[in-house]
Amino acid sequence: MKSKLTVIAVTLLVSACNSTKISKVEVVEPSHPKNIIMIVGDGMGPAYTSAYRYFNDDPNTSEIEDTVFDRTLVGMSSTYPAKVSGVVTDSAAGATALSAGVKTYNGAIGVDVNKQPVETVLERAKSLGKKTGVVVTSQINHATPASFMAHNVKRSNYNEIADSYVENHAKYDFVLGGGWKFFLREDRNLITEFQDLGFQYIDEYAGLATLQKDKPVIGLFGDVGLPWALDDSDPSRLKTMTKAAIEHIENEQGFFMLIEASQVDWAGHSNDIAAAMGEMQDLAMTLEYLEQYVATHPDTLVVLTADHSTGGFTLGADGQYSWFPEVLKTIQHSPSKIAEKLVDTEITQQYVDELFGFTLTEAELAQLEEAKEPTKEKQQLDSKGNPYADSSANIQKKALYAAAKHIVDKRTITGWTTGAHTAVDVPVFAFGSQSDIFNGLITNTEIANKVFSLLGEK
Ligand SMILES: [Zn+2]
Repeated sequence: MKSKLTVIAVTLLVSACNSTKISKVEVVEPSHPKNIIMIVGDGMGPAYTSAYRYFNDDPNTSEIEDTVFDRTLVGMSSTYPAKVSGVVTDSAAGATALSAGVKTYNGAIGVDVNKQPVETVLERAKSLGKKTGVVVTSQINHATPASFMAHNVKRSNYNEIADSYVENHAKYDFVLGGGWKFFLREDRNLITEFQDLGFQYIDEYAGLATLQKDKPVIGLFGDVGLPWALDDSDPSRLKTMTKAAIEHIENEQGFFMLIEASQVDWAGHSNDIAAAMGEMQDLAMTLEYLEQYVATHPDTLVVLTADHSTGGFTLGADGQYSWFPEVLKTIQHSPSKIAEKLVDTEITQQYVDELFGFTLTEAELAQLEEAKEPTKEKQQLDSKGNPYADSSANIQKKALYAAAKHIVDKRTITGWTTGAHTAVDVPVFAFGSQSDIFNGLITNTEIANKVFSLLGEK
């Protein structure tokens, strides 16, 4: 692995009394990028970036075009958590490794195996006088952003984590994502508390254009996470938010920013390849924007990795030597949105062809019709054998969602092995100032430790 050191020859001019002495001192020190942008593609194992290459391919050329991921790849990272949690990490331990350089137990938010808070790169950056920004597509108190911004023994303590953001408000200059449910509660309105502390609050993307530069910002655009990129009013909302963040926090001292494509992971958990490619597209556009930014701001480092892979996603399945991403380009909505629409509307060939963006076969149509039939077997039973108090529309929606994903999986020949995470190594991408220190195979904690070294000591 290469480590780039800048040798600075400092000429000291020392004057003492009447005599003048000139001596040369060589100081070896790493150069510090002014701005550091860390990006997490949550759940984005190597199959996702490979899939994006074929999804993105121009069918009119004989070659397969490189993507922004291909041209910025520098290495791989292992993702295992602390031994106490085995080798398959969750997003909390994964993000704490990336934020603090510490392997910890699954569920830990910015705390070590002894449940003690550990300093994060975002906190270090702030203490060094940099501005800080966080832009995610999940709720802002979800595991990854929380592991950079907070310290809690358990990721599911959502309200406690949200409360701590107010208490630690001085650490953040710009925070965007979802989370009304946790910040606008009956017992506590954290948004008015943020406003009392001098924050500007916005709750729609249009507000990004009207922000005052001299005040910190909190923007929430969804009850929990944002809509899927495929369904959002702004399908490149991660890029939009990233641009707004940079414009707001650029300053003489530099900035640190965390960006998370949070919902690659959610698509993986749902085994939803259409939604996954929508999220990957938004991330790719964000990265392309950052390539342009770095071209004009070479004192900026961008480093992207995943915390783990999700879903055991494979390109090719069922013994076939094929993967066909074409239908993923024409699909008009996420499979979950298609399911929602089909609950209320009669299933006709014309309507489903419109929703999917391709012509469904009779057999595929029949699968959707069958999914819509309210049958007893579809009701999930509790431990006593009684049906859950789930509305029939909800049961229908779940069955239609499963059927829509099944149709897309069969068309594309996509395979899944789990609804959870896997322990496979993940790719690392980096460009800009000092980016070659991330080359080769490393483990997730080294990424944080390298970022700490680039930020420098307090
Ligand atoms: Zn996950």
